[in-house]
This record gives sequence, C-alpha cells and structure tokens, in this order.
Amino acid sequence: METHEMICATETSSEALFVCAEDACGRRVVVGKTRPRLVVIERGDFTSRHVGTTSNALSMDAVEAA
Ligand SMILES: [Zn+2]
Repeated sequence: METHEMICATETSSEALFVCAEDACGRRVVVGKTRPRLVVIERGDFTSRHVGTTSNALSMDAVEAA
C-alpha cells in the first residue's frame, strides 16, 4: 500500500485544510482543531494510506483515521 503525505494548505483557528502531496491523487480533507471532526471534500486515491504532517496532534490523529 502506498503512503501519501497530506499537507496543511490553509487553516483557521478552528479547522485546517489538508491536501494530498500527490498530484494524481487530489485528496482534500478539512480537519477540526478544536474538536475531532473530519470532512472529506475530495476522496482521492482511497487505496493509499494518508498521513498528515503537522505539529497539531489532534489534526494528525484525525487525518490518520481518515
Ligand atoms: Zn493521496
């Protein structure tokens, strides 16, 4: 299984937008920062594992769970 890296594209005080670094994938998710929440905007390549890169532990956990 491939592993794709999700990058925080933009964020507010309450949520963050993560996009997949792989151009061919295009996965995009919005992760809640103040409470666990995940909204998938673009499913992308769901056969690949997606990991987040951020110092925010809550966001990382949410992306891992996606
Ligand atoms: Zn991806």
